[in-house]
Amino acid sequence: MTRDAHSRLEWIAGILAVWILCVACYAAISANIALKRSEAELNEAGFLLHRMISQRVAQHDAHLTTLVSLVLAAEGGQSQPLIQVGESIMRFYPRITAIHELEITWREPSASADARRILSIPADARVPDDRLLAAAVFMQKAGEGKSHVDASFDTGYLLTKKVRDSNPAPALVLQIDPWRLIDMEELPNWISLQLQLDGKVVMQRPAAPQGSGWLTPPRFSRMIDSQSQPLLLNLERPVSLADLVDGAMLAAVAAASLVGLGLFAYSLRNRREARLSQGAAERAEQRSILLAREARLAHAARVNSLGELASGIAHELAQPLTALMSQSRAAERLLEQSGIDNALLKKTMAANVREARRAGDMLKRMRDYISNRPPKPVAVVINKVVSDTADLMRADLEQRGITLDLSLSGNLPMLMADPVELEQVFNNLIRNAADSLGEAGIAEGRITIATMLEGSRIRIDIGDNGPGIEEALLPRVFETFFTTKPDGMGLGLALCSTLIERVGGQIEARNEADGGARFTVRLVAGPGETG
Ligand code: ADP
Repeated sequence: MTRDAHSRLEWIAGILAVWILCVACYAAISANIALKRSEAELNEAGFLLHRMISQRVAQHDAHLTTLVSLVLAAEGGQSQPLIQVGESIMRFYPRITAIHELEITWREPSASADARRILSIPADARVPDDRLLAAAVFMQKAGEGKSHVDASFDTGYLLTKKVRDSNPAPALVLQIDPWRLIDMEELPNWISLQLQLDGKVVMQRPAAPQGSGWLTPPRFSRMIDSQSQPLLLNLERPVSLADLVDGAMLAAVAAASLVGLGLFAYSLRNRREARLSQGAAERAEQRSILLAREARLAHAARVNSLGELASGIAHELAQPLTALMSQSRAAERLLEQSGIDNALLKKTMAANVREARRAGDMLKRMRDYISNRPPKPVAVVINKVVSDTADLMRADLEQRGITLDLSLSGNLPMLMADPVELEQVFNNLIRNAADSLGEAGIAEGRITIATMLEGSRIRIDIGDNGPGIEEALLPRVFETFFTTKPDGMGLGLALCSTLIERVGGQIEARNEADGGARFTVRLVAGPGETG
């Protein structure tokens, strides 16, 4: 797979991941909101139900109290009023499914109790005959209501009251059907309801829609406000993901966010590509600036080297020409003194003198022309020239495994010079240093350039960790045509000294104490003083 295709795939995968995250976040947030709403609805229904059940169970206490007073009034006599009142209570309150009057006898030493039916409404109602129940009722305080789950009844509970503290003791029992405590048809079918008494379930109705088991449903749990009937009301609202998240809405959000993200990614990609191409254009422009500078430097190097070459040749030829001229003059004089009249010889000697003078004049004119070529000084920031030259050469040096370190002092004054010529000087010095490092095969070659202020002058040191210059050769390195390289011209350092001296500066070479050569250039600081 190509790099481009790979990065496109990564890009698409990234967008998809963000999209899935967005949709998941939307689903989570909307589910959370729906869950909170369900919780609130359940609580509202729960409080209503709780109030209603609490009111209804309180009525049972009131009925029991009325019936107890009737039992006490009828003692030894008529039980008719009790039956009448009991029947009318059951008619109005069908959740009371039976009323029993019992006589409970406590037996010692077996510490057990028996219950004997005195009366039941309706007469054929099944009597709770549990001995444990009889004992529990006997233990109640007279006049105090208490609830029991009777194992002999499938559902429902018994509300009991001992009429009097005696043995045997009369007691009343209300048999209550909890299903009728609640108006089932008004109970929303999304509620699952349960009533517990003493930890035992006395009624339970599941919700119609079943929830998904892995979601914790909203719950409501509260004790009914009654001392005699401490029922625990438990409600639950089973939920499934479909209840919480609207599928159509989720699909709409997913589609919209996919389109939105796609557009966003598209514009992002466009912008990135534009930035990349702008970066490429900037790099190309920088490269062309660098190339232009390189070309300028190369041109200056050619022109200056040519000048230096001509100047060198002129210098070298001046001596033999002068000798030729003075020898020819001497020969002329000798001819005159000797009396030999050889017109042809005289003419030849005169021609020699004339031609030698002409050649000498030509050389002088050439040297004058070269040495008088005016520099083009402008105000120069030396650190910039140094770093520009370094930038130009860094790639080449890195390729040769040479590190170039700059240590540029801040706040140096400006100076007047031709920046291209200065670049040429530094270029020569750096190239020489690199050549010597290369020739000596130094593995970790380093060239250091430091600028600093020295009195009123700016000093530039260019040093290397190469083998240095042989002490005997040190005084000669600035001579024109002096070279130790097989293919060297010996013009570089001579040119450097010409260019530096032309702006009133100095250049010197020395060896570092720990090896390596160091060239020091000193230039006059400040504008105007161009030497
Ligand atoms: P070329 O580079 O053509 O030899 P230069 O005038 O630039 O001419 O250098 C003259 C000589 O000075 C070099 O041949 C070399 O022997 C010596 N030289 C210059 N720079 C260094 C240096 N950094 N380390 C050792 N020798 C150097």
